[in-house]
Amino acid sequence: MESTEVQKNSPPALGRAHLSHLPQRPPINLGFQDLSYTVSNGKVSKLILRGINGEFRSGQLTAILGPSGAGKSTLLNILAGYRVNGASGLITTNGETRDLKLFRKLSRYIMQDDLLQPLITVQEAMTIAADLKLGNDINKETKTIIVEEIIHLLRLSKARNTSTERLSGGERKRLSIALELLNNPPVIFLDEPTTGLDDVASSTCVSLLKRVARGGRTVICSLHTPSARIFSVFDHVYVVADGKCAYQGTSGGVIPFLKELHLPCPKTYNPADFIIEVSSGEYGSHTDKMVTAIDNGRSQRWRNYAIEDVYEDVDLEELNTGVIERHNYTYESTPCQQFSVLLRRMFLQTFRNRGYLWLRVGLHAFLGVTVGALFSQMGYDASKALFNFGFCYASIIAMLYTAMMPVLLAFPSEVLLVKREYFNRWYGLKPYYGALVVSRIPATIFFCLIYLAFAYPMTSQPMELSRVSMFVATCILVALISESMGTLISSMLSVVNSMFVGPVAAVPMMLLAVYGIGSGDEAPPLIWRLARSCSFMRYGLEGLIMAVYGPPREDLICPEEVDYCEYKNVKYFVRLMGMADVSIPVVFSMLVFMLLAMNFGAYYLLRQRLSPNYAFRAIKVIGRFVKSKISFTV
Ligand code: ADP
Repeated sequence: MESTEVQKNSPPALGRAHLSHLPQRPPINLGFQDLSYTVSNGKVSKLILRGINGEFRSGQLTAILGPSGAGKSTLLNILAGYRVNGASGLITTNGETRDLKLFRKLSRYIMQDDLLQPLITVQEAMTIAADLKLGNDINKETKTIIVEEIIHLLRLSKARNTSTERLSGGERKRLSIALELLNNPPVIFLDEPTTGLDDVASSTCVSLLKRVARGGRTVICSLHTPSARIFSVFDHVYVVADGKCAYQGTSGGVIPFLKELHLPCPKTYNPADFIIEVSSGEYGSHTDKMVTAIDNGRSQRWRNYAIEDVYEDVDLEELNTGVIERHNYTYESTPCQQFSVLLRRMFLQTFRNRGYLWLRVGLHAFLGVTVGALFSQMGYDASKALFNFGFCYASIIAMLYTAMMPVLLAFPSEVLLVKREYFNRWYGLKPYYGALVVSRIPATIFFCLIYLAFAYPMTSQPMELSRVSMFVATCILVALISESMGTLISSMLSVVNSMFVGPVAAVPMMLLAVYGIGSGDEAPPLIWRLARSCSFMRYGLEGLIMAVYGPPREDLICPEEVDYCEYKNVKYFVRLMGMADVSIPVVFSMLVFMLLAMNFGAYYLLRQRLSPNYAFRAIKVIGRFVKSKISFTV
């Protein structure tokens, strides 16, 4: 206990490469032989990687360089397992054929665009990630120490209380790396970690990565024109040109390598720029010469050339004999723990978004007052029964749009974040989706109640507890289904497409909800009845009509100035609306069933978006084929 206190109070030594409390992982050397990659767009296929070879070792910081379009990102994506289809050749880990499933558990991929969860501070982001990734086997004190060590290692102490949206480019990048370091992955891929950073920030970032590598990890970055200073920090450089390997070796070996090929680098020139320019053909076509000299990545000749840096912290013997044990690499926290941590994070983000919450409160109150004023006191008026029907319909539509539109707007960007976290194995999809659904419920109910608090009394609906509860419950269920429908639509689409598809998909639901109304006992044709039974809005409307007019309700009041009150008898009105046979248990069962079905559908589509099965991959390929045909025709 005492020793923990001491460790907690004294900051970890800066520059420490080993993270003392993290679970130790075996080192991994990643090799690839005859690696090719082809993309096909319909009839046209393109060879992007051409039988390249190479090895990225543990304890080393590797840079993948090359001119734009050479295939750097493609190589990184394939090695990380982010792209699988279309690749051929052998990828090995510690000399054995790579088991992709196992490898995915061991590696982390830090993408270029630094997507971070908004509305939480650096400290909170780290604590949440630690809870998700380290599970309950590690106690709270140790987790705090681990978080502290990584925060110090990546120099984020000053920004620990800053919200993620306010971080500078360099801090965002370092936080992305810090989050992935938490469970000590042996292999880390980074797509252009220095892009968008100034010179100082890039330099800091790369030297931190080197320190991370020195802790016994394999760190591989794709880079776009690094400065000479940054270039010299890398232990290993892999140059891709036109899908082939044009150099593999130390950064110090680049100049002698090129000199041997009679391509002397000018003295004051940046060797990284020079080798990229040579391999892009700026000084004539020398790529083939380079590829042959390095045997498309097979040659080991420049591997140890002029290594100046001492591997202080790394036992190289150990690095080359690491064995990957299967059983160690499941999620570290249980699904229940993941669910509770994610729920906490989602609630925190919801409450932090105060401006948006107040906007929604205001809008629901405004909508409630407007609808209430438009249908003022029509609830008991026999001459206005049809208008009151309109109020019920308007309420259903209000619930649909106010619940669905925010999801259509926000969820597509959330999916991108989830994709990153899911790929890096922070959590499973089931706990995530469960937490998402549960975290939305209180806000949805709250906003629904705000609308009804104005609209219901202003329209003079019956104030009996059973009727009020039924009205409220129906509105809440419709809002929850609409929200899930928004998730279902936006789980597969971009914001723009979601915002178009969502409202359009809602129109048939709205039309079917009122189809056949006014025809009394005369039932519409079977096909339309079946179609109507697919609309949750129909059940919503039936639920609201039953709530206000369901038996036993006394006759409505006819105002004195009205001579003829057709709808005085409530039973007659309900029959005329074609709802005489509506059963309340059936309505609620159908609404609950549709809520579950919509959520299962949304979950399934989200799963397919994150890891598509064969059917979905086939659909994607067909889609691309059709698209290419259309673009050819146009
Ligand atoms: P780099 O990262 O080196 O700039 P990339 O690996 O992104 O290059 O891409 C290499 C080449 O492959 C580029 O010419 C790019 O246009 C092409 N490419 C990548 N993905 C696809 C794809 N899905 N369809 C067609 N061409 C692609």
